Amino acid sequence: MNSDRTPAIPAIRQVGVIGGGQLAWMMVEAAQSLGLEIVVQTPRATDPALNNSLRAETAFAIKAVLAPIGDAEATARLAQQCQVVTFENEFVDLDALRHLEAQGVCFRPGLSVLAALLDKYEQHQFLESLGVPVPAFATITPQTDLAALGFSFPVVIKSRRHGYDGQGTFMVRDAAELAQFWQGFAGDADTTHRFMVEAFVPFERELAVMAARSATGEIALYPVVETYQKQQVCRWAIAPVALPPQTQTQIQTIATRLLESLDAIGILGIELFLTPDGRVVVNEIAPRTHNSGHLTIDACKTSQFEQHLRAVCGLPLGDPSLHAAGAVMVNLLGYETAMSDYLEQRQHLAAVPNATVHWYGKTDAKLGRKLGHATVLLNTSEREQAIAMARQIEALWYPNP
Ligand code: ADP
Repeated sequence: MNSDRTPAIPAIRQVGVIGGGQLAWMMVEAAQSLGLEIVVQTPRATDPALNNSLRAETAFAIKAVLAPIGDAEATARLAQQCQVVTFENEFVDLDALRHLEAQGVCFRPGLSVLAALLDKYEQHQFLESLGVPVPAFATITPQTDLAALGFSFPVVIKSRRHGYDGQGTFMVRDAAELAQFWQGFAGDADTTHRFMVEAFVPFERELAVMAARSATGEIALYPVVETYQKQQVCRWAIAPVALPPQTQTQIQTIATRLLESLDAIGILGIELFLTPDGRVVVNEIAPRTHNSGHLTIDACKTSQFEQHLRAVCGLPLGDPSLHAAGAVMVNLLGYETAMSDYLEQRQHLAAVPNATVHWYGKTDAKLGRKLGHATVLLNTSEREQAIAMARQIEALWYPNP
């Protein structure tokens, strides 16, 4: 039964999605299997979610409102075509959307969830208030005396908003690099509220967990994955992860506390550091489907995309467990500037036993751009074998892995 706080809304058949990149594209695929219709707000007709050539077999046409993500008037038009609006990315104009929420537009997750998480500094404050461990953090300006605040090098400086794929995350090893960092913003009128500083966490591994909560408060946690970032961008993710029971419990407690205290409806991506002494520290929360959850499409009984749709549509959540002994997901990142569909490389990747290639249909490759991902199901849960497979996939994709 719906709880009191949940607005009574009719059975949901149309879902509005703000954002039309690959996350929306994969959500569209899941929507088809649930018999839902998706309407996307995205600037270009060529964006992955609208790219019909990607789904030629089904010729499944997606409705669209062609407008920038932050255009709230366009979101009002989107909302007229659906019963619930959700997010593919968070580059939205929250204040403008609040007017729509006040007029009765149903956003899931609600805007209060985004408000707590969009600004990384405020997100850390929120996590700290819940007793969730985060790296030491503070706001920073060119005048900040880091030592006086208890920081020592190396530190990590982050844009408080609009960071993604490591854009906006800066590793600063010493005072000279700090000076150089600020020089890059010398002409900027206001750097006061733009950045935060974080203690560098000498992590042993990076982990992530996808966590979903439905309109009725039902919670489903996915198996924890290990992720590997190169130059701050995710290269691969593997599952399952062998963790001591107390670490598993700690992660589950963090995920559940976050979902419940946010009153979140939908899925969250929770990125974590595992320290050499076995502590778990939260790096970042994303209020949406996430790259670290991509292997759920091929390796879990319910994909993160289906789960998110189930949650926002008031459907019962699906089983998040793995249906293979193990799985590895490798991001296919751009390594050059080129116009290419990389067909030959994709064919080589697809020929790997138990591999599935997900190609996002972007025609112009750029350095670091996410062009697709490949998932391989494994008949083992051994970490070493999963990493060996990740390397094999990377060697088929990157000219210089
Ligand atoms: P984005 O939001 O752009 O994904 P993140 O804040 O998640 O950026 O940082 C990207 C990567 O940078 C992380 O996955 C991790 O590898 C590294 N990183 C970020 N913060 C820290 C930190 N405090 N200590 C050590 N490494 C960090």
